Amino acid sequence: MISNPVPWPNGARCAVAFTFDLDADSILHLRHHASADTRVAALSMLRYGPQVAMPRIVEIYRRFEMRQTFFLPAWCMERYPVAVEQILAGNHEVAHHGYLHEEPNTLAPDEELYWLNRATEVIVAATGERPRGFRAPAYQFSRTTLDHLVAEGFAYDASLMGDDVPYLLENGHGTVIELPSHIGLDDWPHFMTSRELDYRTTIKPPEQALAVYRAEFDAMWEHGGLWIAVWHPFLSGRLSRLTAMVELIEHMRDKGNVWFARLDEIAAHVASLVETRQWAPRIDRLPYYTGPIPELGEVEPARPD
Ligand code: ZN
Repeated sequence: MISNPVPWPNGARCAVAFTFDLDADSILHLRHHASADTRVAALSMLRYGPQVAMPRIVEIYRRFEMRQTFFLPAWCMERYPVAVEQILAGNHEVAHHGYLHEEPNTLAPDEELYWLNRATEVIVAATGERPRGFRAPAYQFSRTTLDHLVAEGFAYDASLMGDDVPYLLENGHGTVIELPSHIGLDDWPHFMTSRELDYRTTIKPPEQALAVYRAEFDAMWEHGGLWIAVWHPFLSGRLSRLTAMVELIEHMRDKGNVWFARLDEIAAHVASLVETRQWAPRIDRLPYYTGPIPELGEVEPARPD
């Protein structure tokens, strides 16, 4: 089913990464800058992530001896330093997720670069290292994001959804390894509902979400893929959902031959395979388009509701 399955370390059938995006209340300030401070219940729901869920998540990882990747808007690192300490104490990876969760494709290229570098400075100050990986807030990777990632020396991106295995993004000046996920492995469509954030899904019981995550994992295990969950502490850190996550980890361990890894470790493995010509990834040249397709001219066709 996969034309170029990756030779994973030690003969593993697939690679697994639970990634948590610690957005906390950055998303509320971004959406409602003038009034976020008055939306106290929404703030409390989002602050549950760093304050209540994070200790539980790192404790579960400690119990299973897993090292994983956390994506943090840099503003959240400044606002919630204890959560950063917990991440670093567990030897987990801190990766780049914007400064205040600003969406790159809403910014001019120089603005995008300003916020990218401003957040990098915060990560360097907190961790002592430049970030190796990036995930565009809300997946809003822009037509120039890759140019910035190449110029700033990022090893990998984890924003896109174009394959079941790692692939390369190329812009004519260099490459970045793409570690793709899928919206079905994101917890928003399963659990998120918020009037303030204009997101009203029907909340699923954890076992239904788990069935989706597990089916995706079983297929990746069967065919040699890469399984990356994109979860949020304020959503998946709730008690019933973390209980389901533990069941999922146990299911994965029972199947065996699974490589649980940080995304920077997966990117380093892929880079080494490419360098030594043991494996050749697919290459996507970006941007896909430099403007609207010409076939429609200036006319926007009516969109079906
Ligand atoms: Zn996010």
